[in-house]
Amino acid sequence: MIKDNYRHKGKRQQLVNIVKKKGITSQSVIEAIGKIPRHLFMDSSFEDHAYQDKAFPIAADQTISQPYTVAFQTEKLEVEKGDKVLEIGTGSGYQTAVLCELGAKVYSIERQRELYKKTKSFLNKIGYRPKHLSFGDGYKGMPNYAPFDKIVVTAGAPYVPKALLGQLAVGGRMVIPVGDESQTMTLFIRKSLHEFDKTEFGEFRFVPLLEDKN
Ligand code: SAH
Repeated sequence: MIKDNYRHKGKRQQLVNIVKKKGITSQSVIEAIGKIPRHLFMDSSFEDHAYQDKAFPIAADQTISQPYTVAFQTEKLEVEKGDKVLEIGTGSGYQTAVLCELGAKVYSIERQRELYKKTKSFLNKIGYRPKHLSFGDGYKGMPNYAPFDKIVVTAGAPYVPKALLGQLAVGGRMVIPVGDESQTMTLFIRKSLHEFDKTEFGEFRFVPLLEDKN
């Protein structure tokens, strides 16, 4: 049974206020956070914590990202309706749902088979319809569906994968946390075939982007 009651809605409004206080201003991102039942994306034992601004464990030793982090990355992407967006690290599907709410055509890759399967059926069940979910290695991107208007990497990348920059459309934006222990949130904007603008933001902490699939 899928439940989203007034208590969840109330807590979600508090989460919206926290995310705003931390500096998120994009109206569409705020609306998505206010709308998506985050508690359903987590194990029921964490249900009471679902509207705290924190990361929590999901299956396969992975985490659902902190809502502020999801909002921050999404805001930097500047998603417009109809954009083709590639997400690396489907995980719980929460970020995928945010992108769907913004009207993006979402393509997402997950390297943990268990999560890939679970999240694929869950998203379908609650009515989110990404264009394509794939089980595979995000370092390689999705060459068959490239180019993408936006790319968001939701695991900590030790370096910037060349394949991903290559799959970005000219004018496109990629948001990627780069680093080992902690990660610097980095925005790349593709100016032309060979030119990228790079902007760095603050430090964040993600589970690592691992090579190959599991
Ligand atoms: N976007 C997710 C974040 C999950 S944490 C959410 O909103 O819940 C990061 C995810 O990236 C994990 O599920 C992890 O398994 C996945 N991941 C790590 N390395 C990967 C890779 N090389 N390719 C695809 N997914 C990867």
